[in-house]
Amino acid sequence: MTTLTLYFDGLCEPVNPGGIACFGWLLLDERGQVVQEGNGVEARGPDATNNVAEWAALERGLRAAAALRPESLEIRGDSQLVINQLTGSWRMNAVHLRPYRERCLYLLRGCQWAARWIPREQNEAADALSRKAYRAEALAEAEEKRWAKVPEVLPRLQPLGDGAYSVGGVYVVDVHAGRCTCPDFTKRHTADFPLRCKHLLAAEEAERLAARDAA
Ligand SMILES: [Zn+2]
Repeated sequence: MTTLTLYFDGLCEPVNPGGIACFGWLLLDERGQVVQEGNGVEARGPDATNNVAEWAALERGLRAAAALRPESLEIRGDSQLVINQLTGSWRMNAVHLRPYRERCLYLLRGCQWAARWIPREQNEAADALSRKAYRAEALAEAEEKRWAKVPEVLPRLQPLGDGAYSVGGVYVVDVHAGRCTCPDFTKRHTADFPLRCKHLLAAEEAERLAARDAA
């Protein structure tokens, strides 16, 4: 492994600050092939900002790169703040970001490196990875709220057979098709955000309970 290129990106949504700060990074070899990639959630709530997400993306990527011991590393990101603070062109005014820079420089010791700012359009792969992490987290959060209502929904389910249930004669939920006729499902469930409504979660639970009782 001689030269690697690290692309990193971070975001904080649905609000910055105060949302969910997510990161994405990927390492490419000299031929442009992806060697490794990663994404995840760094912070949520008051500590979550775009800058925290960007620094976390760089740090996670550098950790992976350090384990591969490249002779040189090209770092590319669309955060002017992180690129310029890493290289020392800009001062670090935010105290809470300094430990990120220290850890990043530590991970870069003994390696030839250069960091360059790139426009967002050239950073789509890393952006997509951070968005994927955000969607998974937002989905888990949205379904958690709906899970809390499953005990209320369960007694209202009437089995129609083959994984289908009527919900109090108002909606029809189909576990095998993964669908429900309620507004929460029909308005909010998309291919990118496959949210399950409380009825679908309850029907899945009813199927699990039935399978357990049958066993
Ligand atoms: Zn529903």
